[in-house]
Amino acid sequence: MTKLQYAVIGMGRFGTSIARKLYEAGEEVLGIDIDEERVEDIELSVTHAVVADTTEEEALKSIGIGEFDCVIVAIGNDMQASILTTLLLKELGVKKVIAKALGKHHGQVLNKVGADWIIFPEKDMGERVAHQLLSPNVLNFIELSKDYSIEEISVPSSMTEKSLRELDIRANFNITVIALVRNGDIIVSPAPDQIIHEEDILVVIGNKENLSTFAHRE
Ligand code: ADP
Repeated sequence: MTKLQYAVIGMGRFGTSIARKLYEAGEEVLGIDIDEERVEDIELSVTHAVVADTTEEEALKSIGIGEFDCVIVAIGNDMQASILTTLLLKELGVKKVIAKALGKHHGQVLNKVGADWIIFPEKDMGERVAHQLLSPNVLNFIELSKDYSIEEISVPSSMTEKSLRELDIRANFNITVIALVRNGDIIVSPAPDQIIHEEDILVVIGNKENLSTFAHRE
């Protein structure tokens, strides 16, 4: 499998965290910032780091940005620079542009200029924290739509040492176990006779309300 090429623009806290994580996961990451010092600071934590003003089309072209699979625009407070950069990236043919928005209106403009995924870091993180507080058994989740999600849920203690057949989670909760995480390994589509242990984590898909009912079982 060929590796994806990532570029992260803006080496502030947000951009640096993304760039470092991707690089640690073995991906090819180019870090870009207009500020030379910021580029020097990140140099050892990414594949390459360059100084560039990404509001300049020529600078983006000379980096060959159109060849990247995914570019993250993590420019902080300069809304104008973030919008112009996003617009240029889409014009230069970047397939996936992820942009950080400071607020609703910024997000709307980013959407208009073609951003494929808009992130509102404070709002998104706040919602995640609230979700986690409301459902402490939920370790992680992916929102699929307004009503559906995939969640990693610790096994309720009343359900340990029983088989999936016995528990019949689909019939009792109207949700589906798609995988099981055991000692860091993942068992996809676990068989009905699979016994669930205390330390296991269930990966479950379904309606959010049904998932919440399940996650609140003792
Ligand atoms: P955070 O909240 O993530 O820490 P910052 O505002 O500190 O955000 O970081 C944003 C980064 O984006 C800064 O390092 C800044 O130099 C960089 N930046 C701003 N404008 C441009 C631009 N036109 N081209 C490239 N980088 C830029």
